[in-house]
Amino acid sequence: REKAARSAAGSSFDVVALPRVDGLMVTRFPPEPSGYLHIGHAKAALLNVYFAHQKPGGVLICRFDDTNPSKESMDFQSSIAEDLALIGIVPDKTSYSSDYFEQMHDLAIQLIKDGKAFADDSELGKGDDNRKNRLPSNHRDMGIEETLERFREMKTGSTEGQRWCLRARIAYDSPNGTLRDPVIYRGNLAKHHRTGTSWKVYPTYDFCAPVLDSIEGITLALRTNEYRDRNAQYEWIQNALGLRPVPIWDFSRLNFVRTVLSKRKLARIVNEGKVWDWGDPRMPTIRGIIRRGVAVPVLREFILKQSPSRNILNLEWGTFWAGNKKYIDAVAPRHVAIAAGHSVYCDVIDRNNDGSPPDAAVLDVPKYVKNPGLGTRKIPTGKTVIIEQADAQSFEIGEMVTLMNWGNAIVRDISTTQSDTDAADTAASGSNDKSNIVVKHLVLELDLGSRDFKKTKKITWLAAVEENMIPVELMAFDHLITKDKLEPSDVLEECLTPVTQFITHAFADCNVVGLKQDAVIQFERKAYYRLDVSYQGRDSSPMVFFEIPSGGK
Ligand code: ATP
Ligand code: MG
Ligand code: MG
Repeated sequence: REKAARSAAGSSFDVVALPRVDGLMVTRFPPEPSGYLHIGHAKAALLNVYFAHQKPGGVLICRFDDTNPSKESMDFQSSIAEDLALIGIVPDKTSYSSDYFEQMHDLAIQLIKDGKAFADDSELGKGDDNRKNRLPSNHRDMGIEETLERFREMKTGSTEGQRWCLRARIAYDSPNGTLRDPVIYRGNLAKHHRTGTSWKVYPTYDFCAPVLDSIEGITLALRTNEYRDRNAQYEWIQNALGLRPVPIWDFSRLNFVRTVLSKRKLARIVNEGKVWDWGDPRMPTIRGIIRRGVAVPVLREFILKQSPSRNILNLEWGTFWAGNKKYIDAVAPRHVAIAAGHSVYCDVIDRNNDGSPPDAAVLDVPKYVKNPGLGTRKIPTGKTVIIEQADAQSFEIGEMVTLMNWGNAIVRDISTTQSDTDAADTAASGSNDKSNIVVKHLVLELDLGSRDFKKTKKITWLAAVEENMIPVELMAFDHLITKDKLEPSDVLEECLTPVTQFITHAFADCNVVGLKQDAVIQFERKAYYRLDVSYQGRDSSPMVFFEIPSGGK
């Protein structure tokens, strides 16, 4: 049974710390189509899957909570369905809060007729002082007829109607602020992406959630625990309308350091052009993180592992990416890339052949020695190779070095120049006190007979022929946010990292040409990368690889 439950969650991970439920489950994931799904939403969605599918026949509903047309759109709605599928979540049923506008409207009328609601014009805008001070609104005693009339006016969308909202008459002086006569309907003239302009008033989340959970037959409503105060309100609304009560199970929000997981703030980052779009590899959206290079099973495992915890933690990305590295390391084919900026051309001479170049040959080596199943790659050799400036700078004349996958060679000659203009650049590319010395050229004498690899430097290199020098861009990214945790008093724009995108131009080996978009590889001695733009031909723009964080720091 435990095994069935685990496979139901689509995973072999340890989620047994979550409660078991009796009977058939109906759960719902209620995204508002006002942005793309982020990693926090993935937690909510996966938990709902877990409960719904604990037993065969359980139902997961994806309910688009589309009650605020000012923020919502069809694009967001479609992206949410796609991103759920991306992480392997296929709802058994899809519904929309807007499907129930008529029904919810009728229930609001019922509430008014039962004397449990009143119209108010003091709550709009910033919220009123009366509420903070636990004082009744001036309109709290409004009678049923007047309330009905005001609500009718609200529905016309007239200027007067726009000034009013409908509030539940619960308890203006309750210590629980969510019970102080919450707003249940407010006006909005924006065009709704599904219902157009048929409605000019919309139910609030506080009204919609308890009503629809009951109507849709939800057997367990999952909510993040910052809503715990709202539970009493949720129960009040179901009770006031004579609806079936729905039990609530709360879980903690997922938070990450140096990350915002608020759609409102993420929308600002997108709209202010700080990133390319919602799926940018710097965004904590499901799309963004996958585009950055996380493997979907790793994403799922990570979230499921956090799920039983009800503490609100500020999680580290390091742990997340370290788990991903473990997973991709075993399956990532190895390639070579040499930074283009200061690469060093080396003449290769053959020891046993009197200073003449070696015969050009193409070697066949495993894509990854530890995983022969991945197949082989071609390594062209030749009389000229390029290596990285930093490697060349570390060489001494007479030193034996290892050209990886080819063999050993002795450094016979090093030509250098003093660099004035490039000094800063070279220093940045990571070297030492020799940093204003630039290596221009090397002579390497092959010694393929040497089997002494213990003390040699292992150097990546490329045969310097056009077909083996594929132009690529290696892109690395930084966190968007400078602070570990944004406080409510922080201004988002003041906490954005000024530069978050770094490009290195490089040449890569001929095998990269065959890679498809999304391929995950390792450039040896550099990092793991995900291929974002595949090879488009010799005369087109370069291939683009995104560096995948390794969780190292
Ligand atoms: P945001 O603050 O990003 O707008 P939201 O809660 O308003 O989030 P919804 O689309 O309403 O966005 O959220 C859908 C579901 O995802 C809700 O059940 C919500 O509780 C849950 N959820 C949102 N953010 C997180 C998070 N960081 N961790 C876990 N669950 C979350
Ligand atoms: Mg919400
Ligand atoms: Mg929110």
